[in-house]
Amino acid sequence: MMRQYELVERVTKYDPDADEDLLNRAYIYAMKAHGTQLRASGEAYFNHPLEVAAILAEMKLDTATIVAALLHDTVEDTEATHQEIVEKFGSEIASLVDGLTKIKKLDMVTKEATQAENLRKLLLAMSRDVRVLLVKLADRLHNMRTLHHVKPEKRERIAQETMDIYAPLAGRMGMQIIRDEMEDIAFGVLNPEAQKIIRDRLDRLHVESGDVLREIELALSKELESNGLKAEVKGREKRPYSIWRKMERKQLSLDQLSDIFAFRVLVDRIDECYRTLGVVHRTWRMVPGKFKDYISNPKQNDYRSLHTIVIGPHSMRVEMQIRTHLMHDIAERGVAAHALYKDDEIKGLADQGLQVAAGESNAYRWLRHLMDVLQEGDSPKEFLEHTRLELFHDQVFCFTPKGQLIALPQGATPIDFAYAVHTSVGDSCVGSKVNGRHAPLVTKLRNGDEVEIVRSEAQVPPPAWEAIVVTGKAKAAIRRATRAAMRKQFAGLGREIIEKLLEQQSHAYVEKEIANAVPRLGHKNVDDALSAVGRGELSGLDVLKAMGVTVDEKEVRASRRKVSLKKAESDGKFSLPVRGAAANMALKIHSVTGAVPGERIVGISTPGEGITIYPIYASALEQFDQQPDRWVDLAWGVAEEGQRFPARIKVSLANEIGALAQVTQVIGEHGGNIDELQLQARHGVRDFFDLTVLLEVFDIRHLNDIMNGLKSRPLVSTVARVTG
Ligand code: MN
Repeated sequence: MMRQYELVERVTKYDPDADEDLLNRAYIYAMKAHGTQLRASGEAYFNHPLEVAAILAEMKLDTATIVAALLHDTVEDTEATHQEIVEKFGSEIASLVDGLTKIKKLDMVTKEATQAENLRKLLLAMSRDVRVLLVKLADRLHNMRTLHHVKPEKRERIAQETMDIYAPLAGRMGMQIIRDEMEDIAFGVLNPEAQKIIRDRLDRLHVESGDVLREIELALSKELESNGLKAEVKGREKRPYSIWRKMERKQLSLDQLSDIFAFRVLVDRIDECYRTLGVVHRTWRMVPGKFKDYISNPKQNDYRSLHTIVIGPHSMRVEMQIRTHLMHDIAERGVAAHALYKDDEIKGLADQGLQVAAGESNAYRWLRHLMDVLQEGDSPKEFLEHTRLELFHDQVFCFTPKGQLIALPQGATPIDFAYAVHTSVGDSCVGSKVNGRHAPLVTKLRNGDEVEIVRSEAQVPPPAWEAIVVTGKAKAAIRRATRAAMRKQFAGLGREIIEKLLEQQSHAYVEKEIANAVPRLGHKNVDDALSAVGRGELSGLDVLKAMGVTVDEKEVRASRRKVSLKKAESDGKFSLPVRGAAANMALKIHSVTGAVPGERIVGISTPGEGITIYPIYASALEQFDQQPDRWVDLAWGVAEEGQRFPARIKVSLANEIGALAQVTQVIGEHGGNIDELQLQARHGVRDFFDLTVLLEVFDIRHLNDIMNGLKSRPLVSTVARVTG
């Protein structure tokens, strides 16, 4: 076990101003508190917090962090209380210990049920103080180091959790050393066979190629020296787990993996990195396409280095990483490294191009934030205290009213949330409350939002939602529900068509007769056949023929034409059949989307102008989300015979002769009127163009009829309603 003075010495070595008395008191307090407790290994429990403190001292962290590490298990596992810690060590350290106690409680509950809760608390703790997280990572690292003492079932669970949560977390914080060690141990527990295979192969390679690492190290050092470069060259074998991951990712066998050796060259200044690269490429042939400049283009976690692969001695592929000592330190220790730099060193960071570019977007904002604080704050200590980590920033975490945590991608809406909870919740979603208040379904959710979904079993998800949601699960479910609804609608439409045709032939509609005809039509059942008729894929007349009904085709066609002519003439003479608005209100249909009977509509009132009718999914409605008093609940009444309504659709067409003719032909055949037609070249796509058509139709069925007639044409690629 590490002695008291040893720990103090380690800390004062990098921090001469460290509070030795505080460290001594914490050492004794923790040792006494844990008393005779033993670990699974049989050694004194106190050895654990001590080792955790040592890991953090290795990372050169501040005294408060080291003390918190010594005390991290006291409140949870011993008689010690929060109050006592406050009295003896002050509120700063007590709050760190408190954060750790909270996280620790979660380690003991079973994984499935509490995983989410765990993550939530973890996040809360982290957002308060980054040091809590640093101690937790060190704690987990030491637990991994001693994992072989733990019972097998528990061992696997801990290893999996480390692989899933802690190792990636260490990685995102830029603490590569900790990540590597955690992964290596977890890999050995979770997949010992794979680890053994890779180790054996590495051993064989050693025998075959001798001490290649040494050989290359020497050759490179000499070459650099003769070019006047002072560099530290270090060769290493890649870790079994990183080899394994590469094999999995690239679907390679072990023999296909050639770059097993990697070298690091550390120099003092940036210009020397590039000069070193020159020497490397002059000495050995580079592998084309493998050079990467992460100095001018840092990775998202602020990793900086030059990478190249060359063909070294014995024709072996060798990976080279070239960087400055400072870049190396940050690559290995991440946040912990940042925490230590003092003012003059920060200037050094800036000289090395390590300041973070303004206006840089998206990922790892937290690191940029760390950097900002680092440059503004006057001491590393203040830096740590003021750090608020924004981890997982590409995700949002929201809660159900029962406290279940739902992780969603950034930009997710309540609809995504509903589908993430359960498909049936999404399908029946009609509204949402965010943090207890009604919120539009297009709201972008934020971290910590509590979301309640308002449901109605009568609901069918509108197809337009597909454009609003961001998760694949929601998109797929909406498409599925839309297909099912369409199918149902088409079957109804098909039945109506058949009924009408039979009526013209003075033949009663008998389902059994259709059922008998179904096999001859190549369909599975009546619904299937009717739905095909509704979609326009199967002609109603063919169904009648298959039923054995004699049909006078000329008569049928003539009567159809008459109907559509009559309806076209009578257009424009009617008032709108809409219920829900005051009688004296002027009504008009939104000119962009149109609206037709059979679809859900709402009105937006504009003082002095009247009410504009929108289909419920019109995206133009978003602008009125914050003005609930302008919304008017409307419903369709009964339209006059032959009354037509506007609906705008967008048709994407192959850029071929005859495409346009197909569109107008289908619309004409179905008795639709074209009121307006616009052609647009599709941006960047030459094979297709878009056509926007303002139609005049009788109702939603008529519209669907036309849209599906269009979809069935070979030159038509997509048909969609214009939503605003
Ligand atoms: Mn612990």
